Amino acid sequence: GLTGNKGWAAHWRDAQPKPEYDMVIIGGGGHGLSTAYYLAKNHGMTNIAVLEKGYLGGGNVGRNTTIVRANYFLQGNSEFYSHSLKLWEGLEQDLNYNVMHSQRGLINLFHSDGQRDAFARRGNMMINQGDDAELLDREGVRKKLPYLDFEQGRFPIYGGLYHPRGGTARHDAVAWGYARGASDRGVDLVQNCEVTGIDIEGGFVKGVQTSKGVIRAKKVAIVVAGRSGLVAGMAGRRLPIESHVLQAFVTEGLKPVIDHVISFGMGHFYISQSDKGGLVFGGDLDFYASYAQRGNLPMKEHVMEAGMTLMPMIGKAKVLRSWGGIMDMTPDGSPIIDKMEGIDGLYIDCGWNYGGFKAVPASGWCMAHLMATDQHHDYAAKFRMDRFRTGVGIMDEEGTGSQHN
Ligand code: FAD
Repeated sequence: GLTGNKGWAAHWRDAQPKPEYDMVIIGGGGHGLSTAYYLAKNHGMTNIAVLEKGYLGGGNVGRNTTIVRANYFLQGNSEFYSHSLKLWEGLEQDLNYNVMHSQRGLINLFHSDGQRDAFARRGNMMINQGDDAELLDREGVRKKLPYLDFEQGRFPIYGGLYHPRGGTARHDAVAWGYARGASDRGVDLVQNCEVTGIDIEGGFVKGVQTSKGVIRAKKVAIVVAGRSGLVAGMAGRRLPIESHVLQAFVTEGLKPVIDHVISFGMGHFYISQSDKGGLVFGGDLDFYASYAQRGNLPMKEHVMEAGMTLMPMIGKAKVLRSWGGIMDMTPDGSPIIDKMEGIDGLYIDCGWNYGGFKAVPASGWCMAHLMATDQHHDYAAKFRMDRFRTGVGIMDEEGTGSQHN
């Protein structure tokens, strides 16, 4: 402000595409940018372009409710998300960028003896993985969250699984931090460049057709989240993905009142308070397939009802904005980081469902490893597409949405 907005250096170079690169990454969201960053940083590869049809960070990476956690249950997911949380914990130092990572603690509420057993098992798995978990009884939850309605009849609160290292981060800053880190290392970030076709000859990828012309590349990665089905279709492939809208809401700024992230799975509701004071909350998918980045009224009503059931005190807060993003949903709720079978040089990173923001660091790390070495990284070894053929899915409750966000 004091500089009159003059003389500010751009965070990254606004590159125009060269005719040819070693690698092209389609999609300038969190996963595309982190893949480019780790290709440059971990593998010394910089002759790379990230092609984004809109502006960097305009997709889900800038639309999510910012929850970061490592509380998955099944092997495959748990080591991957554990690695991701460790990367989050060093991310600000690594990127030299304030991503406002705030480990304020996440509490998943439970409402029956059966759910308590399931959460006890989950907590044990988290501890076995080297992460943190504590099972709280009703009084333990009341101590931390005294403003919840403990007497409401439909879903009485029995307790909660507390994950102290869980929390939030500033979503745009994550995109901007990775973008700057990749650009500084020589990666070209090309905005307003829509990929309209993928060139394949004799089973080898040759490049892409774009709104800025043809770009040749030895390797191409599809990292487009909700539009994965459309872009894979350009290579003649059909994915085990359905795209659905997920909505979110933010209220006017209020004094600090909610210190944690709270997840009320039975009501399909979760909430935290942003550093600016807005209550940030959401619920379940709008259950129809769509590519529209906005949702509909029935789900809004459902989310507001669930919020009022859990914490009637929010009833007077005014909702400022709501928005939607397109989720790339897989049948088992777990992601895909893989080569595209039968097309040499084509890779895919998708299927992040409700939970891909927390995965941004590890996804980029593992996808970069796959693209640079043609070997699956150990932490993402189970995210292969052929599991949908063999039936060996990773049906993690956490990933399939019963405890989403
Ligand atoms: P995006 O940011 O969507 O990036 C994909 C990019 O590809 C887009 O910028 C798009 O424009 C571009 N693209 C598409 N087609 C083309 C093309 N043909 N050519 C060039 N570019 C193209 N996750 C969590 O972990 N915690 C949460 O609390 C959470 N809450 C959420 C709440 C909401 C409301 C939503 C919508 C999502 C939430 N998520 C959450 C999920 C998370 O945001 C996503 O899983 C993740 O951001 C997806 O990966 P991305 O960042 O790479 O996607």
